[in-house]
Amino acid sequence: MKKITVAGGGVVGMSCALSLQAAGHDVTVIDPGPIGEGASWASCGCIAVGEIVPLSQPGMLMKVPGWLINPKAPLSLRPSSALRLLPWFTRFTLNSLPSRMRAIAADLATLTFASTADFKTQLQDIGAPDLLIERPVIKLFDNDHDKATMGAAFGLARELGCKIDDISGQDAHDMDPAIAPNFQHASILHDWSFVTDPVLLIQKLQQTFLQRGGRCISQAVTNFKREDQRVMAVLCTDGTEIQTDEVVIAAGVASKRLGKILNVPLQMEGLMGYATLLGDSNSDLKHTVFYPSGGFGITPYSCGLAVAGTIEFAGENAAPDWRRADVLVERAQRVLPGLCTDQRERRMGRRPFTPDTRPVIGRTPRLKNVIFATGHGQLGLTLGATTGRIVSDIVAGVPSEEDISMFSPSRFDPAHRDPALRL
Ligand SMILES: Cc1cc2nc3c(=O)[nH]c(=O)nc-3n(C[C@H](O)[C@H](O)[C@H](O)COP(=O)(O)OP(=O)(O)OC[C@H]3O[C@@H](n4cnc5c(N)ncnc54)[C@H](O)[C@@H]3O)c2cc1C
Repeated sequence: MKKITVAGGGVVGMSCALSLQAAGHDVTVIDPGPIGEGASWASCGCIAVGEIVPLSQPGMLMKVPGWLINPKAPLSLRPSSALRLLPWFTRFTLNSLPSRMRAIAADLATLTFASTADFKTQLQDIGAPDLLIERPVIKLFDNDHDKATMGAAFGLARELGCKIDDISGQDAHDMDPAIAPNFQHASILHDWSFVTDPVLLIQKLQQTFLQRGGRCISQAVTNFKREDQRVMAVLCTDGTEIQTDEVVIAAGVASKRLGKILNVPLQMEGLMGYATLLGDSNSDLKHTVFYPSGGFGITPYSCGLAVAGTIEFAGENAAPDWRRADVLVERAQRVLPGLCTDQRERRMGRRPFTPDTRPVIGRTPRLKNVIFATGHGQLGLTLGATTGRIVSDIVAGVPSEEDISMFSPSRFDPAHRDPALRL
């Protein structure tokens, strides 16, 4: 049995903690909290098995001037952050080359294709199988042009094994009568499903962890005590020092800062997204629906209807621009006519994004007892349970079912980078 400290109690950190605990380790989670209110609470709640095609798209650079001047566009870039983000953004856009997009999608598929089974195992373990609704996701398109913009991504996803059916907008309305009848096209993403409440999921993970003897400390990790290539103790805001045999860095977007303290460079930015929870929506929506030209998805959570999405390139500490959340709610009327939007709870989350859209999972050659589990971008909820399983395998020293070499933190480390790994 090892003493293991997990920095970060979001969906990824809590999933790692539970898996490590199940393997017999003595696990402590450190998170300034409130638990579950990192990126996870602003999510669309999807187990997004087919979300494997990277966000970086050909021709993206040409669109940047538009993002700078329109803060309400589905994608936007804060002018104040533009210069600082340039190196990350350049690497990000280089990954829109077709050969790289294909390689990234194939790598992500090795993880997402395992995610539903891993997630169901996790839900059984915490006694909450009802948190998963196995219903496909519907994407809606106003016209031929909007549908065509998804053509390449859908083609690649299909090639790699995702099941996507094209239907008419009327068929989508017949499937789920809450959806407006006048979309021209729709697609059904069969591999996807959604959770009824992502915050409740993380709370249940934490409750189970605590009931089984785990420890959660409401502090931030501020530093590490090292000897040679080992972390001997984790230091917290209040000066608490936690002796440890292994450390898992799962602090979402803050993992980059913790990596820097450990002298492990991570290329990661927090891509802001917004969600508005509508308490009394007057909608009977049954599926998660995505409206790509509006830049959002709508998920019927048990606690209300979540209208979530948009991507904003801004700094780690940038304040939310709530206009972006409000504009989504206005646009949601297009999808759900008669939507009542009076009761609103606004949320913001920073998706921890690497320039190659791959998460960061694995050990660093610089330190013998540190594992990174971060950088999940728009797939953290999807890949939480899978990441937990893989991290537990790494600690046990057994190979994972998947090849995880492409997710190694050393791909960002000039001193240790495998030349075969492209960013
Ligand atoms: C609008 C939106 C929609 C999304 N939709 C989906 C979706 O449908 N499906 C999906 O799979 N994903 C989705 N995502 C992405 C998903 O939410 C993230 O990938 C995921 O939440 C990342 O989880 P995490 O545990 O790595 O990070 P977080 O949830 O951000 O958790 C990190 C934790 O680390 C803690 N922390 C920070 N600093 C420290 C420190 N110094 N010491 C210790 N702890 C620290 C924080 O308090 C936080 O609790 C969406 C995100 C957004 C914003």
